[in-house]
Amino acid sequence: MLNVPPQAFPAPRSQQRVAAGGRAKVPLKPGRSLMDWIRLTKSGKDLTGLKGRLTEVTEDELAKHNKKEDCWICIRGFVYNVTPYMEYHPGGEDELMKAAGTDGTDLFDQVHRWVNYESMLKECLVGRMAVKPISAPKEISSALSEEKKQLNGMLPEKKILGASAKDLTPSYDWFQTDSLITIVIYTKQKDMNAESVIVDCQDNQLRGEIIVDDHSYLVEIGLDHAVQGDVAVNIAEKIGKVEITLKKKDNIHWKMLGQHLEGHNTFIKRTDRGLFYRKCKLISKTEVTHDTKLLCLMLPKSTHLHVPAGQHVYLKQIIAGTEVVKPYTPVLPFLPLDLKEPSRHDDAYIYLMIKIYSCGLFTQALDHIQIGDYISVSNPEGNFKKSQLQTSEDLFLLAAGTGFTPMVKLLSCALTEVSCLRTVKLIFFNKTEDDILWRNQLEQLALKDERFEVQFVLSQPAKDWVGKQGKISLSLLSEFVKRSKKDSEVFICICGPTPFTEQGVQYLKDLGYSQEEIHAFTA
Ligand code: FAD
Ligand code: NAP
Repeated sequence: MLNVPPQAFPAPRSQQRVAAGGRAKVPLKPGRSLMDWIRLTKSGKDLTGLKGRLTEVTEDELAKHNKKEDCWICIRGFVYNVTPYMEYHPGGEDELMKAAGTDGTDLFDQVHRWVNYESMLKECLVGRMAVKPISAPKEISSALSEEKKQLNGMLPEKKILGASAKDLTPSYDWFQTDSLITIVIYTKQKDMNAESVIVDCQDNQLRGEIIVDDHSYLVEIGLDHAVQGDVAVNIAEKIGKVEITLKKKDNIHWKMLGQHLEGHNTFIKRTDRGLFYRKCKLISKTEVTHDTKLLCLMLPKSTHLHVPAGQHVYLKQIIAGTEVVKPYTPVLPFLPLDLKEPSRHDDAYIYLMIKIYSCGLFTQALDHIQIGDYISVSNPEGNFKKSQLQTSEDLFLLAAGTGFTPMVKLLSCALTEVSCLRTVKLIFFNKTEDDILWRNQLEQLALKDERFEVQFVLSQPAKDWVGKQGKISLSLLSEFVKRSKKDSEVFICICGPTPFTEQGVQYLKDLGYSQEEIHAFTA
């Protein structure tokens, strides 16, 4: 899938320039933007050179198309002629050429597995890789030889787990009363919480996903009869039992739960599971600054979803007929000032703080969505783990621009849930005073909670600015990031434009902080 702006393959550092979207990009020639590409794909031009014919491609054939003026790439078993796309690739031609004439799946997945190349490159599809039969030695079991018969370039859909992993595989059962259907998932894990359970029930299809570390267990069923209203999710945390209760539309006896769908009863790595989207209603849009808005989205009633601190979701829009996907980090509706209790917000809503770029493809389209309209929101993703915070005594948050968004939940979570916490310091980099997000709330919080301190640094201040100015630097960080006592447990989070984050991490290392003490938010 080619989502858009984020490039499918990374560019060499010498050529990179970083757009406000956060990813390193190379400058593209005029007339080579994503929008221009979308226009070209709609022009009816024969982009594959095969006059609309689809063909089976052998490995030898693929390997022949390895030049800039004739470049085919295989992604997940499908071959694309990317020659016409070369000049439009935000990561540059050289990056695309790394996969020329070969299987680029791994390279692609390393950068952005969520990028919608299928939609973006659909007019470049040459065909599928031909099946390469392997004559299996007699002693190899049929299951194994089946597995080897995969199409070239295709990753196994479901990784087969070893025996010990199988013992940890969750299982499920179901029962009914006159009016209810209850699905019980035995996760075989202690300490399950609401964030580990994602349930959707739409058009009588039930999808219940259980997150167990970096694995995902799925119950996915086309229900035998209609259900109605909300879905109730009950988690017995200590014993790891999850109950999903549905209301029958008609009080009839169900002979079976329903048809098993593709991912049903699988336990695979999270990263091997496709992203699932549900449509959320835009409830409100409020101004945070001159260019940044707080969007409130309402989840469907039949969805159970909590986005953990430090994780993001993907939003999906169809722009000029092409599916475009971008990541955003949910925040809270406001910074809670009473931090004695974990903040309780209505879980039916997701809040996003989004900067609208005047030339931004996705944010311009987003800005035109009206209250009451719907937008597709994915399951959460991200490699931040709350447990990283739990033992910290000094927490330092370094944010630039909308890189502030992951800090919102972290801040609230640290101040309410981390008992050993002594200090939280936020250093917030912006261009001008008008760009500072939630300045008032941050200052209020600093007054209210003596553990919290905030410092604003401006790179383009007005003359009357008396605060700190400049950009992230070694001297600034050496002054700011200091242990409150010798040997205190420190944790540092950093988020902003990619070069800001990369530079910041380097300075922190120069100051002697270890990799384990630093979490950098990146795509
Ligand atoms: P784009 O079309 O990507 O363009 C943005 C700007 O860059 C424009 O000014 C454009 O002219 C320029 N540009 C685009 N392509 C190029 C190019 N190839 N060369 C040079 N310049 C170019 N943003 C938020 O506001 N809030 C969040 O909570 C948030 N969370 C994020 C979480 C993650 C994990 C990541 C990776 C990013 C997050 N972002 C967030 C950024 C967000 O995903 C988008 O990148 C951002 O909204 C811009 O998208 P856009 O399509 O509107 O802009
Ligand atoms: P911005 O307003 O352009 O910049 C904010 C501050 O960072 C400014 O002071 C700016 O200084 C400085 N800065 C920019 N580039 C720098 C660099 N190379 N080195 C040092 N300082 C630099 O920021 P924005 O438009 O809000 O963008 C925020 C970024 O955060 C986006 O790229 C977004 O993708 C990213 N983000 C990532 C995540 C995540 O990964 N989880 C979450 C949210 C946001 P100047 O005056 O020099 O520009």
